Amino acid sequence: MIPPKERISRRKFFKYCFEATEALLLPDFLRSPFDGRPILQVETTKPYVAVTIDDGVFPKEVERFLSTAAEYKTKCTVFPVGGLMRKNPSLWREVASADHEIGNHSHSHLNVSESTKAAILRDFSIFETEDYPEVIGSPFPVPGLARVPYALGPINVDVQKVIASLQDLHVHWRIDSYSWKKGGQDSNENLAYVMARMAQIRQGDIIILHFNPLDITALPYILDLITAKGLENVTFSTLWHHRRQIMKKRTRP
Ligand SMILES: [Zn+2]
Repeated sequence: MIPPKERISRRKFFKYCFEATEALLLPDFLRSPFDGRPILQVETTKPYVAVTIDDGVFPKEVERFLSTAAEYKTKCTVFPVGGLMRKNPSLWREVASADHEIGNHSHSHLNVSESTKAAILRDFSIFETEDYPEVIGSPFPVPGLARVPYALGPINVDVQKVIASLQDLHVHWRIDSYSWKKGGQDSNENLAYVMARMAQIRQGDIIILHFNPLDITALPYILDLITAKGLENVTFSTLWHHRRQIMKKRTRP
């Protein structure tokens, strides 16, 4: 049984549930984009989607990504872990030089559910004030995008407050390849699994991949699928720039 001291009141419990679900349900036009709540999809007037790629454990996969993106003449938004970026500065500098957009995925990929708000703030700040400027630096300014490690991180209210205080856009996703469920291992069967998830892609979607062998092998197929659907892959910032501004449109001239 939970000791009485640790039990939370009904009111607190419902408040927590409300905050957690509201984060996922509130339509874009009813909220401030810089309130730290996760953005799952962007309502856009253009046929755009944004493929985003996380982490960077395997430098070889980052190199394969660079050649695929160059071949397809497309730009992606990537969220490397700051500590991993420091291990291969020239590689990540190459990513920035190729005009891919680099967002904050924290310094150490900390598990936010087990961390204090101060620790979360520290880890995300290190990325923006040390990792990024020291590895990438000028002339590529920090794009002001953040992605939280682990699937349940984004609904953590402390995390949302941290992202709001950094004035970053909280880039989540609607489409996940779930390659991590297959250990990121590249095989025909796993590729078919990933592509089945990608079949749901529609206009305005944010897609999450990781720099693992499976997702990077799938990347050209995903880019072909996006084109076949009459859509175009762009960076998150471009997708965001073309979001539908419902509030503005409703104003009479
Ligand atoms: Zn990650």
